[in-house]
Amino acid sequence: MSKRDLYKNGWKVATIKSIEHEIVKVEDEAGEITVLKELPHLKNATSEFDDLTVMNFLHEPGVLKYRYDQGMIYTYSGIVLIALNPFSRLDCYGEEVVQVYNGRSKGELEPHLYAIAEDAFSKLRRYNKNQSVVISGESGSGKTVSAKFMMRYFASADCQKNSGIEEQVLSTNPIMEAFGNAKTTRNDNSSRFGKFVEILFDERNSIVERSRVIRQAKNERNYHIFYQLCAGLEDGALTLMKIDKEKQQWIFQVLAAILYLGNVEVDELDKEKPITRNLNIIHRLIGVDMIELKKWMTHRLIKMRNESIESQLEDHQVVQVRDGISKFLYSSLFECMEYFEFLCRANATRFIAVLDIYGFEYFENNSFEQFCINYANEKLQQEFNRHVFDLEQKEGINWSFIEFNDNSDCIEMIENRSGILSLLDEESYLPRGSDQVTIDNSLNKSFVNKLYQSFADNKNKCFSKPRFGGCNFLIHHFAYSVTYHGQGFIEKNKDNISEQVRSLLLEPDKLKWLLPKRECEKGSKRSLSLQFKPNEEKKPFYFDNLYVIQQLRACGILETIRISCAGFSMLSCVKSDDSRVIAESILKSVTSSIGPLDYQIGKTRIFFRVGQMAFIEKARDDK
Ligand code: ATP
Ligand code: MG
Repeated sequence: MSKRDLYKNGWKVATIKSIEHEIVKVEDEAGEITVLKELPHLKNATSEFDDLTVMNFLHEPGVLKYRYDQGMIYTYSGIVLIALNPFSRLDCYGEEVVQVYNGRSKGELEPHLYAIAEDAFSKLRRYNKNQSVVISGESGSGKTVSAKFMMRYFASADCQKNSGIEEQVLSTNPIMEAFGNAKTTRNDNSSRFGKFVEILFDERNSIVERSRVIRQAKNERNYHIFYQLCAGLEDGALTLMKIDKEKQQWIFQVLAAILYLGNVEVDELDKEKPITRNLNIIHRLIGVDMIELKKWMTHRLIKMRNESIESQLEDHQVVQVRDGISKFLYSSLFECMEYFEFLCRANATRFIAVLDIYGFEYFENNSFEQFCINYANEKLQQEFNRHVFDLEQKEGINWSFIEFNDNSDCIEMIENRSGILSLLDEESYLPRGSDQVTIDNSLNKSFVNKLYQSFADNKNKCFSKPRFGGCNFLIHHFAYSVTYHGQGFIEKNKDNISEQVRSLLLEPDKLKWLLPKRECEKGSKRSLSLQFKPNEEKKPFYFDNLYVIQQLRACGILETIRISCAGFSMLSCVKSDDSRVIAESILKSVTSSIGPLDYQIGKTRIFFRVGQMAFIEKARDDK
């Protein structure tokens, strides 16, 4: 087992042959001897745990690989369910499995998504409180598939029988995916929107990645719905959502108009030229006034103190307006689809929500979309930290001795008053001379330069200026360090259309229903599910040690285990003041190797520093 080998594979199983003068000799399974200067991580006596928090020796290899190799993709880590993508069809999601988990408590059966779903459902009933399940993980790790199985559970478990909701919950999925998912290089069915689905049943909230409508990276595709439209759609699912034939026709016409808009070339918008076939078709499809549309695609209105002047747009600006219209129409349509879905659900006062967002991603070229997606994932990670740490805080212990992967500095850098988002807005909406011709990239360059000044010069540890700066900047996210290409940030951030174009689009009666009004309010209990992608090549049941370790480290799973681990076997000790004293005296007498900094006594649990639990258990066994 050479060091290089270890570096390549993350870890290896080996047996300790001898320990002499602080030199440890180990032998791997192939019989190769390696000399180490310190004790390696010790293997747990049994790998048959299904909860990481009960492991004696805490380290990443832990039990996940063992379980995964046996086909078990789910493992608990205290309140969190860890899932590893199998990349192959498993037969553990059928109706009979739903029935097995139905009504059973979490620890009784093998770890499973259904156990989390059942747990949320039973808490909803017991405490009459809304619940939510948050699913996090990088792109392609399996969040959406998990969310679907969760919904299937809710739809087919006893709670929903005969309500008709089952059919509706299951029918809306393909529609939202057709409108909101697309192929990326990481995932053939990648979510480009975050969704917060409430299942018992009220409302939902989400934001869709709009720029995909007009531009896709190499080897990626537009939203599935466009291909389905071109292939000739069947109207199954939309009818189930109670969208009438007339509206369905409208949805298809708006989609077709978006496709035709993409065909409109700048030179056909020339004032002198007659109306072209493309504009004519758009007019027939969505009813907008062709002459006006042509005018406001090529001009803008500049308001001076007492008068307004129309100014001709540059060619690249015309393209921006055209694309802005497509994005506006698509995102309005998307919101509208969600609204239909919301309407078709029964009204209930309580809900279980499932949050499934676009996963953390990085490609060869990362732009504004990746920045937004990764920022959303930073926020989710922060929520995760808060949730797990808050839980322990309620115990009244001081857990500051535990170092955890606190990502609040990175979030601050992005969102505080002089953070990246403010600088971006500042650069995007700075009033500029009306007829000043701006070369696209100069604005992006100046934005990136401002970032360098604000963060690289001040040595912000979450930011770096690449050696060959150009228009690039690096953000050290909780998961990975990602290099972003500044070009296009300003245009994508603006993403707005002029007042004239907006009112033009909203003029035809038929387009007015595109903008439903909704409000939302929140407040619920959370459970968590973490998804991991065991390899980059999407190979079935292949566990790439390093790839998994990286993800486990990124989300601080060990730190959370460190906090939530132990204690559980001593729950009863600390129920009253008396038992607290008893517990403390036991701890003092049990072994001299446990010092006062190695444990903390909470209100109902005792918390140990990592490894101490193993000492105590050993002391007990040796008695
Ligand atoms: P993104 O952030 O890009 O939306 P995601 O985390 O939602 O990614 P999914 O679309 O859920 O990822 O999963 C990617 C692929 O992995 C699926 O299309 C499927 O092939 C496979 N997969 C995920 N989970 C499972 C599972 N439980 N059983 C079988 N295959 C799975
Ligand atoms: Mg997804």
